Amino acid sequence: MNHLSDTQPDITIIGGGVVGLSVAMGLLQAGHNVRILDGADGDARASQGNFGLVWGQGKGWDFPPYAKWTSDALTAWPDFADRLQRVSGIDVSLDQSGGYEFFTDKAEMDEFAGMLARQQDIVGNRFSHDILSGDELRREIPGIGPDVVGATFSQLDGHVNPLRLLRALRIAVTALGAQVVSEAHVTGITAVSGGGFDLRLANGDSLGTERVVLCAGLGAMTLAADLGFRTEIRPQRGELLITEKIRDRLPFLSSTIRQVDEGGVQIGGTKADVGLDDSETLDVMAGLARHAVQVFPALADVRVVRAWGALRVMSPDGYPVYARSRDHAGAYLVTCHSGVTLASLHGSLLTDWIDETSNAPDLEAFDDHRFAV
Ligand SMILES: Cc1cc2nc3c(=O)[nH]c(=O)nc-3n(C[C@H](O)[C@H](O)[C@H](O)COP(=O)(O)OP(=O)(O)OC[C@H]3O[C@@H](n4cnc5c(N)ncnc54)[C@H](O)[C@@H]3O)c2cc1C
Repeated sequence: MNHLSDTQPDITIIGGGVVGLSVAMGLLQAGHNVRILDGADGDARASQGNFGLVWGQGKGWDFPPYAKWTSDALTAWPDFADRLQRVSGIDVSLDQSGGYEFFTDKAEMDEFAGMLARQQDIVGNRFSHDILSGDELRREIPGIGPDVVGATFSQLDGHVNPLRLLRALRIAVTALGAQVVSEAHVTGITAVSGGGFDLRLANGDSLGTERVVLCAGLGAMTLAADLGFRTEIRPQRGELLITEKIRDRLPFLSSTIRQVDEGGVQIGGTKADVGLDDSETLDVMAGLARHAVQVFPALADVRVVRAWGALRVMSPDGYPVYARSRDHAGAYLVTCHSGVTLASLHGSLLTDWIDETSNAPDLEAFDDHRFAV
């Protein structure tokens, strides 16, 4: 474990994944003294295994606050990427030049188009999208396979290099003065009478903090209850393939097939509820490869070099949770799927919400009282 400073921070963030680090960056830039306690390399870490999309299509069509929040996140990304680069010196390769959802089943496509129409009703002009038939698509993107019946397209969708994002955030928060402590597994949190919290670590140490933000991904499964939160976080496995680097640029970005800025093609998008098992499976990998070749047959000649499974961090309804503890003032729970997409807001507007400034966004709809029985 790195050396712990004796100074009590005004805010401790538990969890140094993309969520905790984004939240930390906003708080640091607002002038807070922040400590980040992170777990060990063996922890499930969605931030190290994700697809890197900055994506809006389909998000919140049945939950308007999430549709709007995601739309705000997409708009905020260019500024966030600039800020990150200024502080860390790292370009996260944000490319928001639009993304496709491809379909090989017409009924599925019609259903998704209906969802996007509802999303458009909620967000208005800020969410524009097109519906393309298979033939229109093949005219627009030569090389799309004959089995593709059509696609939806949204102009604001994009992607970043997710591992570089994580590195940029780590460097940025350190440069901004955070104390980042790894292998600091928090085993319990107790509210101290008179204010503040006592955090117990697995190595027996105990640390004090005025406020605490729980951003521990799946690690929050056990800690949330200590602070009176009701959210029951669950894992959901996604599997991914990555190909050898190819020289030519893939002529599209989709939610299941994207070319990393370094050249490899990443293929993914599966979902399985298998508890904490993050292994990859042969049948799912074969299905991913088949899908990629169906969409873009030229990929049949490209070699797969790596595959992995990673666990998503899911709330019971799949939407983010931004909650202030009702039992213990100064404790917050921040957890979500799509932590890459939402990083731009976690590193900006969420600071105002934590600080309860006059600019604070109204995040009441994301409170965890929605899970009260
Ligand atoms: C396969 C897959 C694809 C995805 N694709 C996308 C995508 O394209 N776009 C997108 O926006 N999102 C995507 N996501 C979701 C995104 O990766 C997550 O929302 C995000 O990484 C969650 O970050 P986190 O910081 O909450 O969790 P994590 O990355 O899991 O980080 C949690 C951190 O907390 C630490 N920790 C845990 N317990 C403790 C403890 N008790 N004490 C101290 N530290 C602790 C861990 O060590 C870890 O570092 C994907 C996820 C998966 C799995």
